[in-house]
Amino acid sequence: MTLFWHRRDLRISDNAGLYYALKQGGPVQPVFIFDAAILGKLPSRADARVEFIQRNVAELDAAYRTHGSCLLTYYGDPVAIWKSLRDEFRPTAVFTNRDYEPYARTRDDAVREILEEQDIPLHDHKDHVIFESDEIQKKAGGPYTVYTPYMRTWRSTLDARLSTHDGKPVSFYLKPYPTESYAGRLRQVADPPPVVRLEDMGFEATDVPLPPPAAPLPVLEQYDRQRDYPATEGTTRWGVHLRHGTVSVREKARRALATNATLLNELIWRDFYSNILQSFPHVAHRSYRPAYDTIPWINDEQQFERWCAGETGVPIVDAGMRQLNATGFMHNRVRMIVASYLTKHLLIDWRWGESYFADKLLDYELASNNGGWQWAAGSGVDAQPYFRIFNFESQQRKFDPEYRYVRRWVPEYGTSGYPDKPLVEHKFGRDRALATYKTALVAARAGSVAL
Ligand SMILES: Cc1cc2nc3c(=O)[nH]c(=O)nc-3n(C[C@H](O)[C@H](O)[C@H](O)COP(=O)(O)OP(=O)(O)OC[C@H]3O[C@@H](n4cnc5c(N)ncnc54)[C@H](O)[C@@H]3O)c2cc1C
Repeated sequence: MTLFWHRRDLRISDNAGLYYALKQGGPVQPVFIFDAAILGKLPSRADARVEFIQRNVAELDAAYRTHGSCLLTYYGDPVAIWKSLRDEFRPTAVFTNRDYEPYARTRDDAVREILEEQDIPLHDHKDHVIFESDEIQKKAGGPYTVYTPYMRTWRSTLDARLSTHDGKPVSFYLKPYPTESYAGRLRQVADPPPVVRLEDMGFEATDVPLPPPAAPLPVLEQYDRQRDYPATEGTTRWGVHLRHGTVSVREKARRALATNATLLNELIWRDFYSNILQSFPHVAHRSYRPAYDTIPWINDEQQFERWCAGETGVPIVDAGMRQLNATGFMHNRVRMIVASYLTKHLLIDWRWGESYFADKLLDYELASNNGGWQWAAGSGVDAQPYFRIFNFESQQRKFDPEYRYVRRWVPEYGTSGYPDKPLVEHKFGRDRALATYKTALVAARAGSVAL
């Protein structure tokens, strides 16, 4: 018997690790563990992400049942649970898909160790990204840290190996794994146990709307023209699905290739940031560029709270934060604006913003969130230079000229109930940020700290 461990891959179809588990023989018993350590750290008992995962786990179980099998679900400490799974099932092998986050790597090492005590191998496969960091390297060796050359090599690697799918040519790397053809090798379970429920874990349902896994065709076709305008539903909302693997990234990349090249570039950004986290795990806690850790942040707690609540007096920042607080989503253009306002105008440590986003975003993904924040703070790979500071007034004029987005989320805007000036005004904030960054970076360079 083989066990297959689902984590960020909540689907049967086109699932690399599941395919290899089934291919090896059978019977294969799938399992899923709700990790008490992760869930215990969440700030609220009504968390739309837990709800999303639980709902998709239940749907996955239902899908396995149509094949006469089931998904065994558990809630607790993954290492302890693996000890008892090992003793109960005595599997010959365990298969899974790779997770690149530092916590997951440590957890997987611990699980691997307890399986190895009984000579049970843990086979892990690539599924979450199109390319892992060792597949896209500079000619001279080593990972790319600049997006454009990375993207070019990513594209040429994709095109270098062709295969076919449905009678049409497709890159080998985007070809789906025909998991369903081997579904007969799933372990047959006559009386499957129920799936762990939200209430079993002390969570409750929310009223946050969860986006569907497919975007309407016009959104895909007009993506490059619409994606920058936050008042328009012009982006795919694939984020949460890619994060938890309720859709396959290969399928989404094929869809992007068939409809809109710009969209493919965004998926390449996703691989890029994942590759950065794989190659430079220190970015999870520190600036990629050490000199940026010497910036003397002001870290005013009251100003941070106003930013979190969407009460800064900057209409587009307030609209973005309120959209985030109400729905768990914020438009990408606005994520850049609010992150820039926090790190530059308010001079608050990017990690504070990163961690607030981590608590709130439905599509929260450590690699992309960290990449986005370090990009805005200037501390990351391929970041905008620190002296290029977003002007929130011109961003407003360009991307929400009629204030449609602002009025949707800040109904009191334009009335006496809305502040008549921002917490920190653009020119003052810009000049202060320039001076602070410059002084810190010049001193760091003088002290030989890498820029
Ligand atoms: C400060 C900041 C924090 C961010 N935090 C996250 C996060 O936690 N999780 C996350 O998935 N994305 C994050 N992003 C990237 C981007 O904002 C979201 O992926 C996007 O807004 C999600 O909406 P969508 O699914 O409609 O994306 P679309 O615009 O439709 O793009 C399709 C998919 O491409 C990927 N993608 C798009 N833009 C980026 C990008 N810049 N970097 C990496 N991948 C991208 C995502 O998987 C996305 O679902 C962040 C960006 C910034 C500036």
